[in-house]
Amino acid sequence: MAHKRPHVVIIGSGFGGLFAAQELKDADVDVTIVGKTVYHLFQPLLYQVATGILSPGEIAPSTREVLKGQRNAKVIMSEVTSIDVDARTVTAEALQHETTLHYDYLIVAAGAGQSYFGNDHFAVYAPGMKTIDDALELRARIFGAFEVAELSEDPAERERLMTFVVVGAGPTGVEMAGQIKDLATNTLKGNFRSIDSTQARVILIDGAPAVLGAFGDKLSSRAKAELERIGVEVILDALVTDVNSESVTYKRKDGSTERIGAVCKVWAAGVQASPLGATLGKQTGAEVDRAGRISVNPDLTLPGHPEIFVVGDMMSLDKLPGVAQVAIQGGQHAARTIASELGGTRDTSPFQYKDRGSMAVISKFGAIASIGKIKLTGFPAWLAWLFVHLINIVGFKHRVTTLMHWAIAFLSTGRAERTTTRQQLVGRLAVSQLGSQFQPTIGGVRLPLEQPYDPEAADRRTR
Ligand SMILES: Cc1cc2nc3c(=O)[nH]c(=O)nc-3n(C[C@H](O)[C@H](O)[C@H](O)COP(=O)(O)OP(=O)(O)OC[C@H]3O[C@@H](n4cnc5c(N)ncnc54)[C@H](O)[C@@H]3O)c2cc1C
Repeated sequence: MAHKRPHVVIIGSGFGGLFAAQELKDADVDVTIVGKTVYHLFQPLLYQVATGILSPGEIAPSTREVLKGQRNAKVIMSEVTSIDVDARTVTAEALQHETTLHYDYLIVAAGAGQSYFGNDHFAVYAPGMKTIDDALELRARIFGAFEVAELSEDPAERERLMTFVVVGAGPTGVEMAGQIKDLATNTLKGNFRSIDSTQARVILIDGAPAVLGAFGDKLSSRAKAELERIGVEVILDALVTDVNSESVTYKRKDGSTERIGAVCKVWAAGVQASPLGATLGKQTGAEVDRAGRISVNPDLTLPGHPEIFVVGDMMSLDKLPGVAQVAIQGGQHAARTIASELGGTRDTSPFQYKDRGSMAVISKFGAIASIGKIKLTGFPAWLAWLFVHLINIVGFKHRVTTLMHWAIAFLSTGRAERTTTRQQLVGRLAVSQLGSQFQPTIGGVRLPLEQPYDPEAADRRTR
């Protein structure tokens, strides 16, 4: 479709993409957001969907609804499959509908997925925490493990079912481990007749020597002590070497290996940037690192392409972390640069990240927070976390329902979102067993499917 005014194509409706689109509200441009999904996912709260506190809708408002009043913005649900930087086109596909968009400016904010550091087969047994599908599947696995343990009469099997292993002691892993422990100790207490949910083991493993290492020694030690106080077992300096349906094996620094029997595992270690980074790297000569992040100029553009911006988890600049604020501010910076050029003089200032601090919840009313020179722990940090997350949830309605669910979870031991389905439970495993040739269709139309690891296909590739 021809555009009378400059056309800005934005790939992704996450933090970088959505905030870039909103920043262009008053600019004399047409904006098209192309996203794999038509919701804006608030990833930092995915673990609360997985552990039954929040519903998916609360952390994923519709992008269409958010941008309803922004007349210059349009949303397309499609997965970008290729970018041609010379022709200035983006090609995207959804349900066999191919769309090619011509752009005058391109903002790429396609984020990152989970990385299993070359062991993609772990994904089947230890889902990551990147999507709503991941969170719902984990919810089904966590609650399902207790259900099957209630049925089992074999003590060894019960023990495996009531042992939960979380790999990765960054904010996601720590929050997940803390919540599973709280669920077992408080929410599920007294719910079963054959098992005692409070006896469930939750184990957090990391190859690094500290939990939440990025927060510095003092806060890191406090976080570990708090995790241990609530009963999470923390194993550090331990590299996970194998994950299968029944267990996790890890190797200590001294070379010894240990195996933990556990049915439910969560992978919260490592990210891999969108493959679109590599596509752009090949065409523009920009460097792409091992995690798939593409190096950008100080103003977030690609070398020789002042019309292409890369923001958020996909970009590499000055060792900035992969956090929401980097993506939000990056998206806004790109949008402001575009608007300035349309106004007559392009603002070429470099992107300057304003660090607003970071925080992680460890237990009910317990968190750590690092905001500039201010370091908070315990209840004050938890209150800061509550406030920051509440104001950052997009949409008033979502804020209200989230607050209600938090009241249930924090002021009592209840969790409002314990519903799981069989399909969620078996989803990934079933698709994996059907293999990469499996192509679900509706009315003859092929449905898109995130293909999980297929051992046979991997075998064929390596042979
Ligand atoms: C579990 C978890 C917890 C986190 N906790 C925190 C926290 O507490 N604090 C914090 O600051 N940060 C946290 N983060 C990191 C933060 O969420 C990311 O840094 C942020 O989401 C990055 O924004 P982004 O726009 O780059 O990518 P994303 O928000 O990931 O958005 C990427 C978008 O691109 C779309 N997309 C991807 N590929 C394509 C394609 N080919 N075609 C079309 N669309 C595509 C996706 O569907 C998505 O809409 C957490 C992340 C996770 C996963």
